[in-house]
Amino acid sequence: MNFKKIAEYFEKIESASSRLIMTGILAELFSEADSAEITKIIYLLQGQLAPAHKQIEVGMGEKYIEKAIAKAGGYSAGEVHSEFKELGDLGLVAEHFIKNKKQKSLFSAELSIEKVFSNLMKIATSSGSGSQDLKIKLIAELLNSASQLEARYLVRIPLGNMRLGIGDPTIMDALAINLTKEARQDKKLVKEIESTLKEKKEEKREAEFERKLRVKLRERIEAKYNVHSDLGSVAEKLKSKGVNGLDEISIEPGTPIRPTLAERLPSAEEIIKKLGKCAIEAKYDGFRLAIHKDGNKVTIFSRQQENVTPMFPELSEAVKKQVKAKDAIFEGEALAFNEETGEYYSFQITIQRKRKYNVKEMSEQFPLKLFAFDVLYIDGKSLMGLPFKERRKRLEKMIGKGKTLGLSDSIITDNPKEIETYFNERVEKGLEGIIAKDLNAPYIAGARKFAWIKLKRSYKGELSDTVDAVIVGYFKGKGKRTQFGLGGLLTAVYDEKEDVFRSVAKIGTGMTEENLSELEKILSKIKREKKPQRVDSGVEPDFWVEPKYVVEVLADEITKSPMHKAAGLALRFPRMIKIRTDKKAEQATTVKEIKQMFKAQRHVKLGE
Ligand code: ATP
Repeated sequence: MNFKKIAEYFEKIESASSRLIMTGILAELFSEADSAEITKIIYLLQGQLAPAHKQIEVGMGEKYIEKAIAKAGGYSAGEVHSEFKELGDLGLVAEHFIKNKKQKSLFSAELSIEKVFSNLMKIATSSGSGSQDLKIKLIAELLNSASQLEARYLVRIPLGNMRLGIGDPTIMDALAINLTKEARQDKKLVKEIESTLKEKKEEKREAEFERKLRVKLRERIEAKYNVHSDLGSVAEKLKSKGVNGLDEISIEPGTPIRPTLAERLPSAEEIIKKLGKCAIEAKYDGFRLAIHKDGNKVTIFSRQQENVTPMFPELSEAVKKQVKAKDAIFEGEALAFNEETGEYYSFQITIQRKRKYNVKEMSEQFPLKLFAFDVLYIDGKSLMGLPFKERRKRLEKMIGKGKTLGLSDSIITDNPKEIETYFNERVEKGLEGIIAKDLNAPYIAGARKFAWIKLKRSYKGELSDTVDAVIVGYFKGKGKRTQFGLGGLLTAVYDEKEDVFRSVAKIGTGMTEENLSELEKILSKIKREKKPQRVDSGVEPDFWVEPKYVVEVLADEITKSPMHKAAGLALRFPRMIKIRTDKKAEQATTVKEIKQMFKAQRHVKLGE
């Protein structure tokens, strides 16, 4: 497949007016690609060259891209820069200069996706002196053979800003559409779906069947993606082996698994009502880490599945010494620990360990302790399907003696009073609260189900939990804030079913002056002329932005509001606490959670 065709599809996706249309276009693109091409296309749609945890980044600054455009078009970097000031998007600038190219290229060949990838890979892997010139040359070389449209996307890739507005759920929906024909041959599946059909009329029945079949297929794809965070390779398997190709994908050390997430309930009684006898664990406020041990090789992933191994050398060392298994995947919360006083430091201290420089000094000054709380894999066997109580036993056996790795503090009870006492003791010690765990639940990757329930200390008169909201727009500053160019944020929560961000609050407080200028700097780079396809909002900001950044918000309560689109609910008196750099837009609080928090809050009020 040549890159021109892919660029044409990208342009169609960019100008599609709804997610449904976008999904259809994507499905068409996927059906035209072969198994090698589809992997690359998916990485590009995700704005990367390989799954994120491999950390292969093209990353080139605007200045260098301007130089590459100048080189390919035969203009000066100054001329390109003034056009950029005018248009605000280097993709459009590249289009302009390629259209008005001064000299015809001598060696202009049709661009294949392989050639594009090969140049981008060279850029991603080159470093050291002279590498900037090489990078400029490699982009200019591609631009020399590019059409206008190709140029637009060629420069957006290294800028890390494709402006396509596509999320992983939409990619998975499109993959599912292309599998329905094959899945109709699966008699067992067809029978199973037919037995659930409600429509009576033939043509309506057919539409219902098709819809349910897609949902089933999408669920199967997502279940695999949850345990193998590489959508490109999942798609490759589907292309080459069909639906059953999914069975060949299993969990393996080195490839991150999407974390299980906790639901909320307002009280100890509610927890016991829901789970019966359960495990109650201390909720530590540190980093959630997934540790992958493959013989002597230890890889540590963050909650966002970034490879953070180099940041925590003492943990890798301890894993090699304390873990009694050759291969393992387990999870825990890491906190900075004061060995002299035997106390844990606050999150503000712990967070300082998340750094790329002076790692050694910091690991000596603030060594971490990891409280392991789950195990997913030991020596070639996935344990994800085992009940939690069984996994915990294996975990206890697997962690040997030592000071760096320990087990999360835990009790088993069916008594709400006992939970309350345990909760109060933990809160007094400065912990966040507790997490209740269903003793019989398997490990549910990537989903918020009642296998885990969190209960946090509540702040007087405020919601008992903060909301992680995605910034979808911002307002120009008024009065004193004019100087920052930003006075407030329009934020949204995530509707995971529809892959859409629905507005929930306009935030004007909680930001420091530093926050305001930082936010303006990052948000002005991802401005959109019109409302992005995946955003649903009744409020119009001065500037729309691509849903990318997440902020933690504290509010007094959740109220009904006709202005906002999160099931008609909004945050009352919202204030920003911090930018959550550890969450992607799709990991923000969901509409479903907002609805639950609204219900829980009424419950608490009525109970007063
Ligand atoms: P969420 O993870 O629910 O999206 P969040 O990142 O804001 O939201 P919390 O609301 O604080 O996290 O609750 C869940 C998190 O609690 C886990 O992701 C994990 O990092 C942390 N945690 C602390 N102690 C434990 C424990 N004993 N068991 C499981 N998770 C724990």
